[in-house]
Amino acid sequence: MIQAKGYAAQNPESDPAPWSFERREVGPHDVQIEILYCGVCHSDLHQIRNEWFPGIFPMVPGHEIVGRIVRSGSHAKKFKDGELAGVGCLVDSCRTCDNCKGGLEQYCLNGSVGTYNGKGKDGLPTYGGYSNNIVVHEDFALHISEKLSLPAVAPLLCAGITTYSPLRYWKVGKGHQLAVVGLGGLGHMGVKFGVAFGAEVTVLSTSASKEADAKALGAHKFVVTRDAAQLAAVKGSFDFILDTVSAKHDLGLYLSLLKTNGVHICVGAPPEPHQVPAFALMGGRKSVAGSGIGGLPETQEMLDFCAEHQIVSEIELINIKDISPSYERMLKGDVRYRFVIALATL
Ligand SMILES: [Zn+2]
Ligand SMILES: [Zn+2]
Repeated sequence: MIQAKGYAAQNPESDPAPWSFERREVGPHDVQIEILYCGVCHSDLHQIRNEWFPGIFPMVPGHEIVGRIVRSGSHAKKFKDGELAGVGCLVDSCRTCDNCKGGLEQYCLNGSVGTYNGKGKDGLPTYGGYSNNIVVHEDFALHISEKLSLPAVAPLLCAGITTYSPLRYWKVGKGHQLAVVGLGGLGHMGVKFGVAFGAEVTVLSTSASKEADAKALGAHKFVVTRDAAQLAAVKGSFDFILDTVSAKHDLGLYLSLLKTNGVHICVGAPPEPHQVPAFALMGGRKSVAGSGIGGLPETQEMLDFCAEHQIVSEIELINIKDISPSYERMLKGDVRYRFVIALATL
């Protein structure tokens, strides 16, 4: 076994703290990555706190992983030692179902394996990126360009692909009015991709305080949704709304802002079910849709697109010892826009 050290939550009541554990040996098709940076995703906290489903403890969170290859198995040919590599939310899937064959491993019909808080095919728990190394099948490791700032690449592995994938699926681009709801880890990437794809991007926010930031990220317009006059001015004006909010909110309000045939795309996951008024859908043939992360081919496509267009996440680099105060700040929305752990501080 390979010795690893990291930060683990021992139970749903505690925050991650130092913990030593073992990774599996590097198998014939595996690579071992020395982890350099790992993004802090809101879902790390949801999972530690058992807010989505009962978790597997001790839990080493982290699924926005970048680092360097230190070893490849005898049949692993994808990387050379020393090359950059990334790991996102998935480390395995069945590979035989229609979705896996179509590069949609995130929707594996037999259940994909999460990077942490999951069970691998060997029946052992998976441990994520708040740690110094990871062993993963080479098919689930991604190439990372040397051209981009490495810590700022880490959040692309979850926040990036979560927003890139739906915008690509619905072919959002030139001539479209795109609204992004929520300017956080996901939302700020949604703005960057929407702008890069040629859409006219509006940020919808409850607070006027984020207007300057939204514009700096490239947004063309900013609407304060608590301002009735501003809201009335954009009624029926959007082709797509990318909804990144993970707290309870009123979909009826947003549906009224869509054009006929408009699509409201949910990528945030509030703990309670949404209420959708039927007439808000029927009046204008509108849709509420959802999208979850992305498959391996599309994640690589996104990383390559980002390298070509110089797109990275806006981050605040942290010492792993500061993970608890960083969670507190994340809950208050007090981060622009993603915390990334420097694993050198482990
Ligand atoms: Zn995530
Ligand atoms: Zn599958």
